[in-house]
This record gives sequence, structure tokens and C-alpha cells, in this order.
Amino acid sequence: MVDGSGGVSILAEPLLIDDAFIAAAAERGPPEARFRFAGPCAESGCENWDGHCRFGASLMEHAARVAEPPACGIRATCRWHAQHGQQVCLRCPAVITNVAVEREPPAASPTFP
Ligand code: SF4
Repeated sequence: MVDGSGGVSILAEPLLIDDAFIAAAAERGPPEARFRFAGPCAESGCENWDGHCRFGASLMEHAARVAEPPACGIRATCRWHAQHGQQVCLRCPAVITNVAVEREPPAASPTFP
């Protein structure tokens, strides 16, 4: 969950969600503004895939670190962890699914005669 510190709190146990959860969460705006969701790696179906996850590599290079790796319920199946080990877990809490949803919507497009 987005924790107000500029990152997320990682769940120690996976929480499976369903349509009811999504519908309830959407009543208060885009769920991605308050939650980060995990799912199976799409590999070649993702623009960040080049045989490895380039997003994980980018995290290692750019994301702020926390002091200790969080307890995490998906570590055994996490692509980032498989590639980079515990070092990426120190950076993982900095990842928010979609920061764009927290921004103001763009101004209306200008119209031309
Ligand atoms: S990088 Fe580490 S903390 Fe983040 S989801 Fe993967 S295993 Fe969990």
C-alpha cells in the first residue's frame, strides 16, 4: 500500500484480490494511487523485457534504498529478486505502480479553428 512516505509498504503475506476488492477500491479513485499490485512477469509481453527485466536493473541504479529488506510474501516468485537478490528488495519500496494517477489531469487540449 502507498504509505505517504513516497513509497509503499510491502505485505508480508500475499493478499489475493478479486473484482469486489477492485470495485470497492475504485470508489475512492484509481486503486493504483493507493496500492501496488503484483502479478506474473509477462516476459516478452512487456516493453521492459530484453531477456531480463530492465525495470529491475533500473531500480538497482536509481531507486532510493531503505535500511532493511522488507518482509515480502512474493519473494520466492519475484523476478526482480531472482535477478538482483536482496539488494533490489532494499529499493523495492520506492516503486509506486502509477504515479501519473496522483497528478492533476492535463489541461484541456487547445482547440484550433
Ligand atoms: S523486490 Fe524484494 S521486496 Fe520487492 S517484491 Fe520482489 S522480493 Fe518482494
